[in-house]
Amino acid sequence: MIRVRFAPAPTGFMHMGNVRTAIYNWLFARHQKGSFILRIEDTDRTRSTPEATQAILDGLAWLGLNWDEGPFFQSQRLGLYNDAAQKLITKGQAYYREDAQKGKAIYLKMPEKEKIEVFDLIHEKIVFDGRLFDDFVIVKSDGFPTYNFACVVDDVDFKITDVIRGDEHISNTPRQLAAYEALQESPPRFAHLPMILGSDGGKLSKRHGATSLEEYKARGFPPGALLNFLALLGWSPGDNREFLNLDELISEFSLARIRKTSSQFDEHKLLWLSAEHVRNASPQEFTRWASEFLKEEAPGFEIKDEAWWGRFFTLYRERLKTLGDLITQARFFFHEDFQFDEEAVDKILRQEGVPELLEEAQESLKALEDFSAEEIERGLRDLAGKRGIGFGKLAQPVRVAATGTRVSASLFETLSLLGKNCTLKRLSGAVKMIQDKR
Ligand code: GLU
Repeated sequence: MIRVRFAPAPTGFMHMGNVRTAIYNWLFARHQKGSFILRIEDTDRTRSTPEATQAILDGLAWLGLNWDEGPFFQSQRLGLYNDAAQKLITKGQAYYREDAQKGKAIYLKMPEKEKIEVFDLIHEKIVFDGRLFDDFVIVKSDGFPTYNFACVVDDVDFKITDVIRGDEHISNTPRQLAAYEALQESPPRFAHLPMILGSDGGKLSKRHGATSLEEYKARGFPPGALLNFLALLGWSPGDNREFLNLDELISEFSLARIRKTSSQFDEHKLLWLSAEHVRNASPQEFTRWASEFLKEEAPGFEIKDEAWWGRFFTLYRERLKTLGDLITQARFFFHEDFQFDEEAVDKILRQEGVPELLEEAQESLKALEDFSAEEIERGLRDLAGKRGIGFGKLAQPVRVAATGTRVSASLFETLSLLGKNCTLKRLSGAVKMIQDKR
């Protein structure tokens, strides 16, 4: 049975490279019907924080990467590492050494080898010069293990079969192999993932924009879009498909199709995938994303019910690229504090006869018992007919008054979704705004 782990250090926000590592481990476990174990590597006492741990747990939960065992915290397992180190001392494979810098620490003897070979599922054979590796610390003077040791003791204890991690750890692997050897355990398979680079080929960093999962979540990317996007950074299903939902990712994923070379982070592609995921969501899924997004990222915005969201989704599914667009494109649905497009106000609202027209529109709309799109359309068309004006002459001012803009999705459905009270209030507010400034 396949057993993999995601083993982040809780020392900061969740970097996209780490998120991809979590995704690959999880997809591999789900594809193989194995287990995905979460281990928090909090052995660096100065840099680990509870906030960072919480960010990891929240981030994984938000992406839907559920773990089968854990979370385990290395800081709560110190006895295990110390016992293992003591055993190695007894066997003569480790020893205490004291120096000014590191205090009294336990070192593992590095076996003398000219060449150390690491077999990696992605990079195949990697050969290191054994003379470059000295004895190294496995337990620090504060009693905490080092990464290279705790990682091996735990991977043995959890019976990990495959270690899938970033390739910045390739150079740690010879030391970890020495620890397996000393513990007389056989090592797992290794798969080291090539780097994710920024769009300009440099190391992915702040200057390329957002770099943490929290930021992408705050910008309103649906979790499925980020999963899809990050999965494709270094892997592909072997055909031209780019849009893959979770089930497809699970059924297609394999370590064999991971590229050997680094990949570039392309925000345009992320946006495109995001729009695809929004478009292809079920109304229930969209409702969940949108409500959660507004609740967390836009406090003060009105939260709507499921039936409302279902209709909104029909109207907007082709228009939104991210949930962030709810705020930029559709703010007037959720907040009274939205901006009027100045030009629209000048060219459309401040025209001869418009205040009177808007007042008549209010009368017609107020009389409607059923505030459905059909009834609104009938009411407004009747009014335009009675006044003998083209329908656009009435519809445009009503649209600007209700939404602040000249372009919106279908006017009738928009007003219906705003509701009768809100629509009437917006129309009278607009009349007041025009008259105040005269
Ligand atoms: N704590 C290490 C990291 O976050 C884990 C590396 C590993 O998976 O062995 O990079």
